Amino acid sequence: MKLDVVGQRVPLVALDAIRKSYGGHDVDQGGPPAVDVLRGISLNIHGGEFVAIVGASGSGKSTLMNLLGCLDRPSAGQYRFNGRDVSGFDADQLAWLRREAFGFVFQGYHLIPTESSCENVEVPAIYSGMPEQERRQRAEALLTRLGLSERLDHRPHQLSGGQQQRVSIARALMNGGRIILADEPTGALDSSSGAEVMKLLNELADAGHTIILITHDRNVAAQARRVIEVLDGQVVGDSDPDGRRQYQHQLAQQRDGETKTVAPMPDLATSLEVAGEDSPRLLLGELREAARAAWRVMWINRFRTGLTLLGIIIGVASVIVMLAIGLGTRQQVVAQLGAFGSNLMYMASIGESSRIPGRSITLQDLEAVSEIPNIVHVLPNVTGNKVVRYGNQDIQTYVRGTGSALPKIQNWPLARGAFFSESDERELASVAVLGHKLARDLMPGVEDPIGQVVLIGNVPIQVVGVMSEKGALTGERDEDNLLIMPFSTAGVKLFGQREPTYTVLAVADVGAIAETQKQLEALLLERHGIRDFGVGNAAASIAAEAKTRDTMTLMLSLVAAVSLLVGGIGVMNVMLMTVRERTREIGIRLATGARQRDILRQFLTEAVLVTVVGGSIGVIAGLLIGLLLIVAGAPVIFSLTSILTAFGCSVATGLLFGYMPAKKAAQLDPVAALTSE
Ligand code: ADP
Ligand code: MG
Repeated sequence: MKLDVVGQRVPLVALDAIRKSYGGHDVDQGGPPAVDVLRGISLNIHGGEFVAIVGASGSGKSTLMNLLGCLDRPSAGQYRFNGRDVSGFDADQLAWLRREAFGFVFQGYHLIPTESSCENVEVPAIYSGMPEQERRQRAEALLTRLGLSERLDHRPHQLSGGQQQRVSIARALMNGGRIILADEPTGALDSSSGAEVMKLLNELADAGHTIILITHDRNVAAQARRVIEVLDGQVVGDSDPDGRRQYQHQLAQQRDGETKTVAPMPDLATSLEVAGEDSPRLLLGELREAARAAWRVMWINRFRTGLTLLGIIIGVASVIVMLAIGLGTRQQVVAQLGAFGSNLMYMASIGESSRIPGRSITLQDLEAVSEIPNIVHVLPNVTGNKVVRYGNQDIQTYVRGTGSALPKIQNWPLARGAFFSESDERELASVAVLGHKLARDLMPGVEDPIGQVVLIGNVPIQVVGVMSEKGALTGERDEDNLLIMPFSTAGVKLFGQREPTYTVLAVADVGAIAETQKQLEALLLERHGIRDFGVGNAAASIAAEAKTRDTMTLMLSLVAAVSLLVGGIGVMNVMLMTVRERTREIGIRLATGARQRDILRQFLTEAVLVTVVGGSIGVIAGLLIGLLLIVAGAPVIFSLTSILTAFGCSVATGLLFGYMPAKKAAQLDPVAALTSE
């Protein structure tokens, strides 16, 4: 029992000239005038009292109860709770009071329709951070005590009115229910259920709970131990203004050794200080609860949720597939680079000189060029189209005279036989290696082309090898329709020229290829005096191609990102709808002690859950589509990073687009939310 300095009992609840008015803000613009609902209410209620506030409908009883329960603030006057002025409390501290001090019982029960009896009873304890097991046990014990042990898992719509009201009383008791605020608790019940509820309230009063019962029914009010009568927002009668009679009653009870079961109020000063803090356990339990509740709501609205999910799924799957295609094509380009040889340079004569023997790039030039340190191979080439004859087959083909190092520096292995050697080059040997396609077309029935002799003009040439299929790598089927011979033989016997048409140069260090190219140009310029030659390298042109493909991937990825955005808007839409539909649930949660941030977290969790589920299905769908594409022969390579990125993006989308609706939910006015349709 708390006493003030002069030894007077400090009332638990002390109202002093409380006024509440609605509206009147925009009377100038033709709005309705202010309505004075409470017009100076002063009353004291002590711990352990059983008070009925009685009055006609519209006299302001519910408004008064909302003020008493810290769901609303008065327009004027002072409300002291246990001696402390409530007007100085912030939102978290008011939430703490609602959670720890009060328990609400409403005329319309106000149970959360998607949750079972037991879960409804547990709600206040979630926000006070009670461990799950303990919470569950306590809720079951309370429901059992109220005769609902058979109805633990029933949803509110499966219960009768009386049963629902008992569930809501159990909820009011969950965190101790030190002060029970009951607004017309029997109003919606038949007489026997009503009597049952009144009996229950009486028992709770006996057990030491402070009970404030609001009713318009004098017979109901008469069952309380003190009756306060209100009329038009004013107190017009009080049967026991100081609660003195009840105090005597309580003292007598104490003398008789009757025990009270109500736990004492936690110390206000210290509790209020930490009202806004989060313990990790509280946070974890709350998130788990939020996820469970969100899952339930998603399941109940599965068609709608499915449509929203579809947006996210399409977004995530397309991001994954696009990135995989992008990576696949890039890899393909890299493979081509390898096939072409990114370490190669090309050099040819251009302009007038190229047609004048001895004035163009000569064999002496090649000798000099091979002295450049980074250049490891010099491959002179002489080329042209010739008709190749085998038996009675004539085939127009591309003939390339080149060096023996060709398979090595162009990464082009042989399928059969051997490539010609350096000595073949020196000795002008009449040998040739056939391209894959040429070998097939020229000698269709021949098992092994090696050793066969073909004719070009009247020069007989012996086949020593067959190249592997190159077109498979580069996509250029024509590259396999060729005949390769030693440079010397081709130049002298077929084309009648000693100078190369073009020359391939291989460098050791690709990183220095630009530098080497400059050296090469300088050397040739010095030797020729004029720029009658051209030099280039493959890396540059392939890099350019890779870049255009990158641009395409980027554009496709943008499209994918946009679809993710659309999915996000879908999430926002469904969340706004949810908040609207569940406004009353939000009111219930606020009345049972949720802080604004608890509501924010709950709805954010829901939004994130939608995107996590959508993202997961999207990842699976993306992988499946990718696999189908791989089977269909498309270049697709999955990377863990891109999958994680897509998934992360979808979750971020949920957070981003869920924030606004969640914030909206958290900022709802508790009273307005509770009374919403
Ligand atoms: P009771 O519970 O005694 O029936 P209420 O406290 O619900 O009475 O309402 C008292 C009066 O206040 C009524 O005339 C009602 O129209 C008015 N009132 C209640 N809430 C609002 C509000 N949000 N805005 C305007 N008037 C309100
Ligand atoms: Mg009312």
